[in-house]
Amino acid sequence: MTTQESPQELVQYRCKKCNAPYPLGADDVIATCPYCGYTFIVGGSELTKHMILPSRLDEKSVRKSVTKWLKLTSSKSVGEGIMKGIDLETPTLQWIPVFRVLADFEIHYLGAKQERSDYKKTWVKIEETNSGETAEWVLARRHAATFGVEEFIESLSDDTAKPFKIGMAESAPVLNSEIDEGDAPTRAHQRKRARDRAELQEQMEHLFDYHLKMNPKDCAYMHVPYWLARYTYKKGTFRVAVSGVTGNVVLGELPVTKLYRAKRWVTSLAMLIASALLMQPVPYILYALMQDSSSNGDAFMIPLGMAFLAVLLWGGAYTIVGGSLRYEICVTADGKERDKRFSFGGTMDDMKERIS
Ligand SMILES: [Zn+2]
Repeated sequence: MTTQESPQELVQYRCKKCNAPYPLGADDVIATCPYCGYTFIVGGSELTKHMILPSRLDEKSVRKSVTKWLKLTSSKSVGEGIMKGIDLETPTLQWIPVFRVLADFEIHYLGAKQERSDYKKTWVKIEETNSGETAEWVLARRHAATFGVEEFIESLSDDTAKPFKIGMAESAPVLNSEIDEGDAPTRAHQRKRARDRAELQEQMEHLFDYHLKMNPKDCAYMHVPYWLARYTYKKGTFRVAVSGVTGNVVLGELPVTKLYRAKRWVTSLAMLIASALLMQPVPYILYALMQDSSSNGDAFMIPLGMAFLAVLLWGGAYTIVGGSLRYEICVTADGKERDKRFSFGGTMDDMKERIS
């Protein structure tokens, strides 16, 4: 083996099996020879358990899938008119390294949920223990800047997994792992924890306690096919990520058009008008209630409710106008505009846990 430093933090390496020279990244932990497919732990031995989820797409079928998705989602939001101005570039395939961790798990959580009936609010305690088996997918790269790769990994299932052969990679780049096999269970635990917490926090007002125990049973190193299609529209470039496993779009960008902006402005204006109309009678109702000594406390809920709703509408109008000023929108597989996946609270808790 001969090594030679190059300026891009790449090291020239010679394959142990086929002797072909190829560069290794400075952060690579597990590497695959692009010529013969020999996969090994850098500075160590061969990794024999190496799987692949074959790609069922080629350039043509990716184009078809992307065009279909663009038509469907644009008609729901920015207008199908964009289709005439779209220039789709040749899509590219990359093999993304992941670990699939199979584990038994046990969760215990404690929370409280508010239940409303008529005028009364009651708190209900929620405590549950769950157990089962889970398959977690962990991205084997340190910097997950790739567009839509999170959504792609979330969509994976290992039904079609086969032993890795370099021929199945179809000459597309096979990325090396930047994380150690030993780190995969820890990352799988973090992923499940963050996802569970986000789901539970949507179901209840307070989540006091959450415990997750995971017993990893199996960890497989796999390469999965990620397609990226770029297109231009009015000099702007936009991206669409496609899963080579399912053939479906996992995440895509749509240009914000005049039609989309106009729709947003109209909605926003309607909300502002409704907000103003709601606020108008509030002082009069309050005045009338104060004059009438026979009215009870509950009657004050009406003007207060109206004022509250008016403020909500005003805030909504503001958010919607803000949204229309963006350059592009991000749309998921089923055509919904993406909202943040994990809650801020959950992320903060994770950070606290990591620091302590
Ligand atoms: Zn080789």
